[in-house]
Amino acid sequence: MSYDVIVVGGSYAGLSAALQLGRARRRVLVLDSGKRRNAPATHAHGFLTRDGESPAEIAALGKVQLLRYPSVTWLDGEAISAHRIDDDGFQVDLVGQAPVHARRLVLATGIRDRLPPLHGLKERWGRSVFHCPYCHGYELDGGPIGLLATTPLAFHLATLLPDWGPTTLFLQDGVDLDEEQRRLIVTRGVRLERTPVEGFAESDGASLRLTDGRTVTLAGLFVPTLAAQASPLPAALGCAFDDTPMGEFIRVDMMGATSVPGVFAGGDAARPGGALAFAVADGVRAGAAAHRSLVFGLEGAAH
Ligand SMILES: Cc1cc2nc3c(=O)[nH]c(=O)nc-3n(C[C@H](O)[C@H](O)[C@H](O)COP(=O)(O)OP(=O)(O)OC[C@H]3O[C@@H](n4cnc5c(N)ncnc54)[C@H](O)[C@@H]3O)c2cc1C
Repeated sequence: MSYDVIVVGGSYAGLSAALQLGRARRRVLVLDSGKRRNAPATHAHGFLTRDGESPAEIAALGKVQLLRYPSVTWLDGEAISAHRIDDDGFQVDLVGQAPVHARRLVLATGIRDRLPPLHGLKERWGRSVFHCPYCHGYELDGGPIGLLATTPLAFHLATLLPDWGPTTLFLQDGVDLDEEQRRLIVTRGVRLERTPVEGFAESDGASLRLTDGRTVTLAGLFVPTLAAQASPLPAALGCAFDDTPMGEFIRVDMMGATSVPGVFAGGDAARPGGALAFAVADGVRAGAAAHRSLVFGLEGAAH
């Protein structure tokens, strides 16, 4: 069976895109490998009406509501590649399953966070080590906060963080500040720590041990990460990317159209600094744009 649209990625952006298409009574396949970026976190914050709820439950409820639309089909699986088969269609190849076909694609495949190689950091990710203070800063109750500066982006975050708690900036791996940055950081009350971090001080929590033997007690640690595309599909399809200081993101126009006609994208894969609310909004946009392109054709679609 060929679908009108295949939405690759069944998390917040993909669910939201498919909802628009299902409500337009279009045949939609949502293909999902079940690896949401925020899976390690037990609570999601900052998403209106869902603040503090489980990220898994928010996604699960979205799926239940989506699958009430009879033209929507769900497939658990992983897309390995995709290519155009004619002027009005694509094939998506899956791991261990038959290929699937559609006239349009929506890529809602998200990103992977490239974490610095600090032993134990991965296990603490989303629990006591975070990337975003808007998501998880408030819950640290104004306690001491650390920021591991492994990229120059850390300066920006260091300047914001004192609003959530007394902040120590751990300068690592040759990352340094210029005169003006140092002045601003000091004005904001940030403490600078240049002694290299050796590791976490305890089996749990965010406190750090330095190479000189000192321990710095922390309620939470922030780490600005670089994004990598979670899926090979955007590159396989030939989508253009924007190279930003936060990583590589699929280039989209104001309607979520990528550089490849018939392919739309949204959510973390197509924007730096993603959040649930942005992903859901991007999905609305990409889903509606994909629908319009089915009606008006690729040339007539209002991007
Ligand atoms: C630890 C952590 C905590 C966070 N907390 C918050 C918070 O409190 N509030 C907030 O607003 N934001 C938070 N975020 C950000 C939030 O998780 C993202 O903005 C959001 O998940 C983006 O949604 P998305 O649908 O674009 O991508 P994702 O949620 O990452 O979903 C992408 C989906 O695509 C699927 N997929 C990828 N490739 C393929 C493929 N080849 N084939 C099939 N399926 C594929 C994946 O399995 C996944 O289900 C947090 C992020 C992290 C890392």
